[in-house]
Formats: sequence, C-alpha cells, structure tokens
Amino acid sequence: MRLKSLRTSPTLLLLNIAQLVALQSNTNGPRRGRDLGELGLIEDGAVLSVGGKIVSVGKTKDALRDSWIRKNRRKIREIDCAGKVVLPGFVDSHTHPAFTAPRLVDFEKRIAGATYEQIAEAGGGIRSSVEGVRKATRAALAEHVLAGLKAMLAQGTTTIEAKSGYGLSLDAELKSLEAIGDAARQWPGTVVPTLLGAHVVPREYEGREGKYVRIVCQEMIPRAAEGKLACFVDVFCDRGAFSPESTEHIFFAAREHGLGVRAHVCQLSHCEIAPLLKYDPASLDHMDRVTDDDIAALAAQAVLSPAYQTVATLVPGANHFLGLGRFPDARKLIDSGVPVALATDYNPGTSPTASMPFVLSLACTHMKMTPAEAIAAATINGAHALRLAERKGSIEPGKDADLAIFDVADYREIPYWIVGNRCHKVICAGVET
Ligand SMILES: [Zn+2]
Repeated sequence: MRLKSLRTSPTLLLLNIAQLVALQSNTNGPRRGRDLGELGLIEDGAVLSVGGKIVSVGKTKDALRDSWIRKNRRKIREIDCAGKVVLPGFVDSHTHPAFTAPRLVDFEKRIAGATYEQIAEAGGGIRSSVEGVRKATRAALAEHVLAGLKAMLAQGTTTIEAKSGYGLSLDAELKSLEAIGDAARQWPGTVVPTLLGAHVVPREYEGREGKYVRIVCQEMIPRAAEGKLACFVDVFCDRGAFSPESTEHIFFAAREHGLGVRAHVCQLSHCEIAPLLKYDPASLDHMDRVTDDDIAALAAQAVLSPAYQTVATLVPGANHFLGLGRFPDARKLIDSGVPVALATDYNPGTSPTASMPFVLSLACTHMKMTPAEAIAAATINGAHALRLAERKGSIEPGKDADLAIFDVADYREIPYWIVGNRCHKVICAGVET
C-alpha cells in the first residue's frame, strides 16, 4: 500500500489556506488537559507533500519564496485553498463496518420505548446482525465494508479502525477480518483491523461464557495473529456481554500473540478500569459510567507512561441514536488529565453514522467540548488511540500526507454546520481522492 502510494503520489502543494490546523506538538504522547485545545493554527498556510509524506508546513509567502519550490514549480501539482480550512484527515478509532443490513426493527422498537437490553433479550441487538454476516460471502461482506469506508472518506476521514464482531464463530470472525482487509485494499485511506470476537456471547453458547471465551482465546486470536488479520483485540466488557475476568483472559491471550488490546467499557454498567490498565490497552471506549477512581487511575497512568497512554474514546453518536439524553462526562475526563478521543462507533444498531463532523457537533453541544478540543480528539488523539501517532493525526514534516480540505473559512464551522457535508476534498498519502 505504502509502496504503491510512493510510486504514484505527485508532489503536491496546498496554498493560500485560510486556516491550516497543523496540530504540531512538542510531546510524543496524546493531548491532555489544556493542551487538547491547542490546534497550532497557521493563517494563509501552505503544505508541501512529496512521495506521500509531508515535507514542509508554514505560510504561503514563505513557501513561494522557497528556492526548491521555485525551481520545481512546474512539476508540482498546486491546490488553491483560499477561503478553506485544511486539517489532518480524521482518525476514526472505533467503527464496526462488517455488517450486512441496517437494524430497522430495533430502531422502531426503541422509538416505541424498548431499551437496549430489552431489545437484546428479545433477539434483537448485536445477535440480530449475526445471521446476515454468517450467510454472506467474503466478497459480499467486503462490499458492505467498502460502502461504509467510502461514506467515511467523503466526510474527511482518512484512517479508521475497523472491528469484526458480527460473526461470533471462528469462521465468520476470520471471514469478517478478511473482508475488512479486502475493502481496505480498495480504499485509499488506512485501515486498522480489530478482532472483536468477544462482542457478545452467541446464542449457541448462551449461559456458557467461559466456553466461548476459550474459543476466542485459543482459536480466534491465534488464527487472526497468524494470518496477520488484526492489529488489536477488542472486548465488550459490560453487563449482558463479557465479565471483567473474561476480558482479562482475552487481553492476556492477545498479548501472548503480539496483538494490542482495547475494550468497550462502562456503557451500560460500571466496571473497574484499573485492573485492565496493566495490559496497556490503547483505548477504553464509551466510558459513560466511569467513577472518580477510574478517572484518577487513567490520569495517573497517562503521567506514568507518556508515550503509551490509554486513551478514553468517547462515541456520542451512540448516546444520541439510543436517545439516552445522557452523555459521557468529557469535561471531567479532560479537566482531570485523561487523554480523550472521539469516534463514530459506526454500526448498524446504535450509531449508524459515518460522519466525524457530526460526532464533533455532538461533542460540542452535549459534552461541552470546545470545537478545538473536538478536532484534536478526532485527529491526533484518535491516532494515539490506534498507536499510529508517529504517522497520523497532525500536519507535520515526516507524517503521512493525509489531509481534509473543508469548504469553510473557520475551523469552528466544522462542528457548527450540522448534517450537511462541508468536506471539499480529501488527500490520502499525497494523492487526491
Ligand atoms: Zn463499538
């Protein structure tokens, strides 16, 4: 993928950028506390990319004076970004694209008053997506994944994490990861695949969580690692899904096989976070019901190991779509020094949106994050949540030239204009898409 882009990436110069959101940083860890809102704005900015990598970032007038640019100007492809904002492509660090159909019955039941857990108990929820995935061919599933990826790209997302998790058998989970890989090869952005075999206990193992966890640990994880099909292993650790003890077993097996770990935690019920931190999870996601002790443990861990911090990834699209009227306490997390990221949680049951700008809007309106904090949480901190910050999440020399050009003059307009898509153009590894 990278070799391909090196061969085909033109030399690209973006000029006259009204606001360049560079997000350059002096630290190698994720943004925390007051630093989260530091965007490193450059007005009348310019970015030069060569061979898919960013080589210089600054003012347009300085770029035009540069002797190398002057000498090579005829060979450089220029994009005039007057009146526009350029930011790093969004890093959507939590998505579930390997499904085949929307869950419209669940949607109507919820409108009629059923809760998430009532829907799950009646045979809806995650389990109702399983049959479609098990029946689908790998090629058909890849088509569905690719459709989701294209919708994300159109709204400025250039890197995503993509989970399996609707197969819930060895074959169907491996097929899901293969379909994610197939779609990734046809998409210009970067995909980080995650094995979520432990999404929910499948019907045939009802009441036998331990037996199913052994399949995840002894069959799914070794096969996913051996086939290089996943970078991470995820667990839905919550009431009605997997216990903290099972989560630790799965994390241990993932680590034994050289895979990173992450988990869905505290969405429906509280679970103590501190015991999970010893497995060095890249991210703990949802975080609706965390306690002050959990927040203190996360903040302390962030200070102890600055380069490998656990990011708290918030997915307000799920709170919105479930009609909860309640959102994670982003302000408390940020003000306590916990690194926070934002993601879509793109999935057919609880967050059917591919739009990071919409998630930013929700974060500002319902979680009282500033527009600047929301942008940093959706770019550089998303990159940290995938342990990809050396390549992604900011516009700095040496990083991948993944850029989103928005047809707005001020970055605050990105979360301000709800629903309509203001993304004008997306560049992945120096190539216009
Ligand atoms: Zn999720």
